[in-house]
Amino acid sequence: MSVSSSLIHLTSPALHSSATLEDKLRILSGAARYDASCASSGSTRSGSGLGVAHKSGICHSWSADGRCISLLKVLYSNHCRYDCAYCLNRRSNDHQRASFTPDELAQLTVDFYRRNYIEGLFLSSAVFASPDDTMLQLLEALRLLRQKYSFHGYVHLKVIPGCSPELTVQAAQLADRMSANIELPTGQGLQLLAPEKREDEILQIFSTAGELQQERKLPARRRQDSVANPAGMSTQMIVGATPDSDLTILKRADLLYRGSGLKRVYYSAYIPVNSDTRLPALPGPPPLLREHRIYQADWLLRFYQFGVDEILDPAHPQLDPDVDPKAAWALRHLEHFPLDVNHASKEELLRVPGIGVRSMRRIISARRHRRLQSDDLGKLGVVMKRARYFLHDGRFYLGDVPQREDFIRNALTSDTRKKAVSQLSFDFSAASEMTASALTGEL
Ligand code: SF4
Repeated sequence: MSVSSSLIHLTSPALHSSATLEDKLRILSGAARYDASCASSGSTRSGSGLGVAHKSGICHSWSADGRCISLLKVLYSNHCRYDCAYCLNRRSNDHQRASFTPDELAQLTVDFYRRNYIEGLFLSSAVFASPDDTMLQLLEALRLLRQKYSFHGYVHLKVIPGCSPELTVQAAQLADRMSANIELPTGQGLQLLAPEKREDEILQIFSTAGELQQERKLPARRRQDSVANPAGMSTQMIVGATPDSDLTILKRADLLYRGSGLKRVYYSAYIPVNSDTRLPALPGPPPLLREHRIYQADWLLRFYQFGVDEILDPAHPQLDPDVDPKAAWALRHLEHFPLDVNHASKEELLRVPGIGVRSMRRIISARRHRRLQSDDLGKLGVVMKRARYFLHDGRFYLGDVPQREDFIRNALTSDTRKKAVSQLSFDFSAASEMTASALTGEL
């Protein structure tokens, strides 16, 4: 590796001076693997130096467990002064620690970019010093990257909760996307499992980012800086580390989308890495299917005009593991179906299981020219295995079982699709219907 080890020290964490850069990379990329907040769309950063965030197709690769791998995804340091119950890097764990210096990290990113290994950087860190001192080092690394190395590629930065709002603003000038992990759906959960973190400090970051977002909506002549955090703010919630229901999780996400203007909430199935009496004992593997269903419900909130109370309610606080949330809603509301595919409104079509945003648009466009029949719909991208039970073409009901909940539910769950759900592997290279919907949101 041709990376120089000349270092810039600010308020340094306890550096393992004997560790090579390769060692640090191994330790700190491994330490970042549980972070799911990794998406890059929405940025338009470009310039005359290296990289163009909006053209480079960042984050289009996924690891076998569904995590994005096209960015260099590392922690700056895994020395942590906090002791969050669920975290591998917590203070009380006895394992290898390492920290980069700002220049090491900047050079490493550029080196990897030039070798075509990566298209951008996802940078997070444990809290090795005060939140401000930790943030200052991350900012120094990004400044070097942007200014010394003229790197214009995509950068996603995790903001350290508790840092000054001014540092969040500075971070927004350097990063394409920022995030801060809300971690758990309720303040009580945070208090239990991460008592050194404060919910109000995390919300403060969203609030500062929200003000920057408002500024972006101003006419150009009135904006302070038009490129601050262009891809917006995201967060991550752990699913299954507390007894919180899916309803509680979705309500929190909805509040974050509406109240704090977040672009994206990521959900991460709880993976036990520590032994701690505050943590649940999982009866089986991590709840990946639950995570997947919550992602599907999240798509309904953001793109299908569903309200949380339509998806779940206090009497039904958990998502149905057997069918996706839109199909579950449709089964509970068969009085709206079957719909006439040739006359239904956009909003009505979006409520049909198996019709996504793209296929809805294609239907609207195609039916201007001809009357659609069953054979046409598959060609327009409609997933007929689900949609047929909720449609007619003006003359015939398209389903092959009676329009009754028990029959339709059985039809939706009885074939290999059920196996696909229960064996969900998150191998996104497989072109399965289930995995595709997690990526595209077509439900
Ligand atoms: S602050 Fe908590 S979650 Fe973050 S690295 Fe430290 S122990 Fe882990």
